[in-house]
Amino acid sequence: MINIVIFGPPGAGKGTQSELLFKEYDLVHISTGDLFRAHIKGETALGLKAKSYMDKGELVPDEVTIGMLRNKVEENPNAKGFIFDGFPRTTPQAAALDELLESLNTSITTCLSLQVPDEELVARLLNRGKTSGRADDANEDVIRNRLAVYMRETSPLKDFYHEQDKLSDVDGVGTVEEIFQRLCAAINRYA
Ligand code: AMP
Repeated sequence: MINIVIFGPPGAGKGTQSELLFKEYDLVHISTGDLFRAHIKGETALGLKAKSYMDKGELVPDEVTIGMLRNKVEENPNAKGFIFDGFPRTTPQAAALDELLESLNTSITTCLSLQVPDEELVARLLNRGKTSGRADDANEDVIRNRLAVYMRETSPLKDFYHEQDKLSDVDGVGTVEEIFQRLCAAINRYA
């Protein structure tokens, strides 16, 4: 199996690149942000809970997020591998993911960490907010909070994967195709 974590701050291009990568490597794409948005649209109890955090740019609590991710993995017993987009975002989530994959006799292949300067991220997200319909992209204060939450709670995970010799730093500035080629080269070094 090939199991990829695509990692980086909001606006780094994780979703865009995941769409290309899951096709290239025949993986199941799991985006926790997309799953939460589907729950919100379906007006489920989980969606209602998640929305209060998402609207402020805060992380949804680990127990909710990990449970949802685990269900999604277990719904795909025949997957050739997974691309995890927007998960893990905290150390307990990363530990839970390792444990879950271990129970399936597999593990993370590599964590692709997209590098994009902060000001470019804010510009990209404000631009995306014009068409995405996402409340959390439309407000600059919420965007800056999401970046601060990323710095505080999520970026330390780079050390988690570095210590496992699984971290691939990838330049996230360029055309979609250029970045895709860099990501494929990084995966092929591990796969
Ligand atoms: P994203 O679509 O990945 O930008 O996620 C949008 C929002 O969903 C985030 O700002 C969080 O509020 C929530 N979210 C998505 N993934 C996670 C996660 N792994 N842990 C906690 N909250 C998450």
